[in-house]
Amino acid sequence: MELSIIVPCYNEELTIKTFYNKVVSICNEKNISYEIIFVDDGSSDSTMDEIKKLCLNDTNIHYLSFSRNFGKDSAILAGLKKAQGEYSVVMDADLQDPPELLPEMIQIIKSSDIDCVETRRKTRKGEPVIRSIFAKIFCQVMNAVSNVNITDGIRDFRLMKKSMVDAIVSIKESNRFSKGLFSWVGFKTKCITYDNIERTAGCSKWSFWSLFKYAANGMISFSTLPLYLPLIFGVLLFLGGLVGLIINFGSNRIFILSTMSIFFGLNSIFIGFLGLYLAKIHTETQKRPLYIIREEK
Ligand code: UDP
Ligand code: MG
Repeated sequence: MELSIIVPCYNEELTIKTFYNKVVSICNEKNISYEIIFVDDGSSDSTMDEIKKLCLNDTNIHYLSFSRNFGKDSAILAGLKKAQGEYSVVMDADLQDPPELLPEMIQIIKSSDIDCVETRRKTRKGEPVIRSIFAKIFCQVMNAVSNVNITDGIRDFRLMKKSMVDAIVSIKESNRFSKGLFSWVGFKTKCITYDNIERTAGCSKWSFWSLFKYAANGMISFSTLPLYLPLIFGVLLFLGGLVGLIINFGSNRIFILSTMSIFFGLNSIFIGFLGLYLAKIHTETQKRPLYIIREEK
């Protein structure tokens, strides 16, 4: 089988059937052999009924149903683990990831040495402005403080060779920020872009607060910089205090300020040392692989 389509679904009773019809008609038209893996992320509506109805007429459909809502990233992991295809693609159920791009993506991955075709929205038309602004800031901060690169507008909608899927599944950490992991595993990737498409039915499952938590989790998973901040701050305070002492030894007020600065600086430096060790423990507990092999003979 050529293609595994992984679809995380959380309360998507209104979109499942439309999604299925559209994807299958494209796969049939282009002669793509497929399996669809719906991952029901603890839906409380009739998402599962919709999926089971489709299963009656199509043996290429598989599903996993979570006992409660575990989040999209857990659903992606579960789907990728179950995937059997030569290539796997992650797609939202609401058709915001256009299935029309699938043939082109498969064509690119087949005709070149590329391991992954990722997609990016050029525009965010139709999305709340405040959400777009925060997303942009998040990407900039993330790229500045971490060793992964998250382009603004990048989607989870990506086609990957089995080797890349295996690499992602091999990462055992439990705080999974998929966009970061996709970037972290490396592999040769090509990006294609498209204009934003609005949800076909239903509503977004992300509140501002859940997106904030998602962003914070991503940041903590891929950056230990905040743990180093007390050290930097402490050194600056300590040096400032020393300079104050040297230059203004005659003034009582400066003397007191400088000594305070030295002691607070030292205090912060010691906290910074704790941060250094904590950062080590943090990265050790993630147990990420030390390397990932792309090819071997
Ligand atoms: N989703 C999920 N679990 C969640 C939230 C969302 O599996 O806890 C799924 C959802 O059903 C959809 C995809 O992730 O297929 C993207 O969600 P949504 O369209 O709500 O996000 P947005 O497009 O607003 O970013
Ligand atoms: Mg959506």
